[in-house]
Amino acid sequence: MIILLKKNASQAQIANLTDRLKEFGVQTNLSVGSAHTIIGLVGDTSRVDIDMLSALEIVDSVQRVQDPFKKANRRFHEEDTVIELSNGIKIGGGNFQMIAGPCSVESERQIIEIAKAVKDAGATILRGGAFKPRTSPYAFQGLGAEGLRLLQLAKKETGLPIITELMDASHIHLFEDADVDIIQVGARNMQNFELLKKLGKTNKPILLKRGLANTLSELLTSAEYIMAGGNEKVMLCERGIRTFETRTRNTLDLSAIPVLHRLTHLPVVIDPSHATGEARLVPPMALAAVAGGADGLIIEVHNDPSRALCDGAQSLTPEVFAKTAERIRAILPFAWRERT
Ligand code: PEP
Ligand code: MN
Repeated sequence: MIILLKKNASQAQIANLTDRLKEFGVQTNLSVGSAHTIIGLVGDTSRVDIDMLSALEIVDSVQRVQDPFKKANRRFHEEDTVIELSNGIKIGGGNFQMIAGPCSVESERQIIEIAKAVKDAGATILRGGAFKPRTSPYAFQGLGAEGLRLLQLAKKETGLPIITELMDASHIHLFEDADVDIIQVGARNMQNFELLKKLGKTNKPILLKRGLANTLSELLTSAEYIMAGGNEKVMLCERGIRTFETRTRNTLDLSAIPVLHRLTHLPVVIDPSHATGEARLVPPMALAAVAGGADGLIIEVHNDPSRALCDGAQSLTPEVFAKTAERIRAILPFAWRERT
């Protein structure tokens, strides 16, 4: 349920109303936007008397929100969420960031070389998997804790914040020790609700990837799990979904960008690498995502793609990434920013 307040509502009146609402056993969420001040109610609102609320002097209108996602809902929070990383860079609300790096951290030399190259090309965040979710148990599983150490080293060398995937909540302390800036929840764990609940208790920004066969409503409801626990720094990532098409690894759902921007205030990141599975398809899809209003891109880059231990076929060389980044910068001023 959302309560739209009149413009002249005083702070004391708002505090008074919030106290009364808490008596109904619901959680309140105050959002002060440029157009409206909204009190969002989360929890069992069946006991809340809409007629009583509507009659109050400071209340403009009261609306029920049917969607299962509340804190993630644009109706609860009109302004875009802007997530700031520890080095001050921001993502969301018109702030665009480019995340790049290898699928997996393979060695010190590999990650440092790629980190320097993507930084030179304009990437602002370094990616690299340490714990890898592989389809086959016999495939390279990542370097684990050693991979986190190497990422931290690359961060020290370049100053780039780091993002890496968490698969097991018992590893959260390792991610904290390694000073990971953004925790990635991979497509396969989008509905690992126990993991999401635990991430709700951390204060690190989370990149939540859409599952291979999940709807946007399910993605938002998974984001709600993290937010319900108290961590509101969530970014959503479209990385391609399974369809009947076999010419690409997955099908990139670009319309997810304007649809998510309509439904939620959370930043939207596009992964054209896992979406297409083929390096040649990544630059055009990256440009399309930027034109469509993505708040960020996450792109796989490898210094020797043919020898990569994971996802070489979809990895750009640093040279191609640099050219792509240049074109991204050129079209960024024309990106779609209006709500549709
Ligand atoms: C990855 O980012 O390397 C990855 C495994 O992604 P996804 O979860 O989208 O498959
Ligand atoms: Mn990958």
